[in-house]
Amino acid sequence: MLSVHAGAPARARPADPLPAPLRRATAVLACPHCRGRLRPEGGSLVCRLGHRFDVARQGTVRLDGRRVRHSGDDRDMIAARGAFFDAGGFRAVTAALAGVAEQVCGSRGAGWLLDVGAGTGHHAEGILDRVAGGQGVAVDVSRHALAAAARRHPRLAAVGADVWTGLPVRSHAADVVLVAFAPRNAAEIHRVLTPDGRLLLLAPAAGHLRELLVHTSVGIDARKRERIDRQFARRFALERRVRVTDRVGLCPDAAAALCRMGPWARHDLTPRPLETVTVAVELSVYRPRWR
Ligand SMILES: [Zn+2]
Repeated sequence: MLSVHAGAPARARPADPLPAPLRRATAVLACPHCRGRLRPEGGSLVCRLGHRFDVARQGTVRLDGRRVRHSGDDRDMIAARGAFFDAGGFRAVTAALAGVAEQVCGSRGAGWLLDVGAGTGHHAEGILDRVAGGQGVAVDVSRHALAAAARRHPRLAAVGADVWTGLPVRSHAADVVLVAFAPRNAAEIHRVLTPDGRLLLLAPAAGHLRELLVHTSVGIDARKRERIDRQFARRFALERRVRVTDRVGLCPDAAAALCRMGPWARHDLTPRPLETVTVAVELSVYRPRWR
């Protein structure tokens, strides 16, 4: 009778304590204290000087250099924004962003996307779906946003940081930086971009969400674009600017989500039975200037 050597009984390998996107993102992440490289060690990221950052149960890591004074968007706001995205509220905007990102990364078929103030990570998801070999890092200050972004896409890592205290990213590491309705730290964005990278910046245009905002004291600042251009002129050249508009039909749930997802939710808005809403944004594409 033949006997088969069975060997030792197979033991389940312990699960990797680090989510795959975060492990890959160590290629571009930097220690917020010393700007050194980070390497995985158990369930943490560690730099050469021993600064250690533990990965949370949700698969996110905080790389805050200093104590962050504000906590960003709250749970309800993030949930509402996710519901509005899921209902297709910003589909035209995401499609426009993905188209530009594909052109930037296209010839290489890969690249690193850094989404600054990423929120739920929906735009990053749309971009990574289009750029097949792309990898992404979603940065946000809100832990609720990070938890949502960490679940969004298998190639998107979620990292906690405040853009005003510095991006925990190595210099010249990002091929595309996306800033969608988020704080704009021009110096830091310039530092992290590759020499032929691009900054994609979204800002609201006239008429954005007008069916909603007409009932609130929140307005679209008509001078905002000029301010942004002045802010970026020294370090960036405007390559092109496109206006994206869409008229979005709203189911009752999407209308309710829209009422809860922005700064107007904190002030004066009672939920309204909106049937459609106008989405109007300006997408500016900047390339970094190098002397
Ligand atoms: Zn360090």
